[in-house]
Amino acid sequence: MDMHKELLPTYEISFYKDFTCRAGRCEETCCRGWKVSVDDEALKKYKSLHSVTGLRIRLALLGRKDGCFDTSYRACPFFNKEDLCGIQLKYGEDYIPEICRTYPRLNRNYGFMQEKWLDLSCIEAAELFLSKGSGFCMTAIEAEEAYESEYSNDDRDFLRELIKSRQEVVRYLDESLFSKKEDLDRAFQALLSFSLAAEQGSIKNDYSYFQKKTADFYRGDGGKILFPFPMELFKEMICVNGFYHRSLFRQLPFLNKILQLFLSEFKDIGTSEGQEKWERLYNSYLEMDAQGEDIAKGPCPNGQGILRELVNYYSYSVWTDYLRSFEDYSFSKWLLRGMLAVNFFFLFSALLWQEQGDILRHEKAHVMSVLERRMHHNPTQEKKLMESLRKHVRK
Ligand code: SF4
Repeated sequence: MDMHKELLPTYEISFYKDFTCRAGRCEETCCRGWKVSVDDEALKKYKSLHSVTGLRIRLALLGRKDGCFDTSYRACPFFNKEDLCGIQLKYGEDYIPEICRTYPRLNRNYGFMQEKWLDLSCIEAAELFLSKGSGFCMTAIEAEEAYESEYSNDDRDFLRELIKSRQEVVRYLDESLFSKKEDLDRAFQALLSFSLAAEQGSIKNDYSYFQKKTADFYRGDGGKILFPFPMELFKEMICVNGFYHRSLFRQLPFLNKILQLFLSEFKDIGTSEGQEKWERLYNSYLEMDAQGEDIAKGPCPNGQGILRELVNYYSYSVWTDYLRSFEDYSFSKWLLRGMLAVNFFFLFSALLWQEQGDILRHEKAHVMSVLERRMHHNPTQEKKLMESLRKHVRK
């Protein structure tokens, strides 16, 4: 351990330490489908290995300008028949690249403080998150500085204001009642208006928008529907903007299976027929959920199962993304990004539920992890989806 690392005020997602990798039992392993970037320290160790494995590692990196093991279309070259890492088995955890050691634990350093959470593209992290219901938060601790800050903004007061306003957004989501889909649409409308006001205010150095309650930003002027997205918007994103791609058959077979369900249901039908079909699907999905909740537990104080789950998913994205406005003041980008993920999660869960007649928590975790991989770990793809969403909002 480096004894000279500074202690920094740190916010950590409350279930951060509960994570344990599924290793050989993982049905959506991170050893497949992604490039693995090899850091300088690992590279130095690999150069000193005088063994067949050492030679294999060096060969795997030969001629690769990006310094990565290529796992894009198949598994990492060191992923063995028992679904375990051959490098780790032979040389121990110290010899695997840093990204493999830390994933799905993520850390963001803002200079004055840092945050730690789990990336929901990992199926175990996603299931842990879903098992918590709304029982998670960021807990304040002191921890060693994990990485250097990549933020150039040194306005500590602005960061404090951002942290307070994030608290207000999360409080609003936690305390509001979500018993019908319109409640979530209303919350998204309010948050979009807030984010646009925040961007305008930042240009003029006016931070009065931070003092207002989130609910007060709801304009009630019938803005674009933000939940559930209309079917035409999904179709544009999936069929035109490349969310669906043939390579998913090998890269992410589970996501490919769900997208095939989508294509067979919606690809070849007209706008109004598609929208009606989508409304029938999501209404039945929500009705099934409401009945199940009532029988099993009675009504929830702040909303029913699926809607509350979606709100929690959105809250998680607020916890992890909102402070990124510290660097780029792009409040709407970070708040819309979560709405995108929530809508796709709703669509895919509903499709799987319709196909199977049921959907269990571990299946939802699987949906969440492949969705996060396709959406948030593919910058080109995410940019296209965000462009479509912004166009929809502006229309
Ligand atoms: S996806 Fe998560 S649980 Fe699965 S192997 Fe990777 S870190 Fe472990």
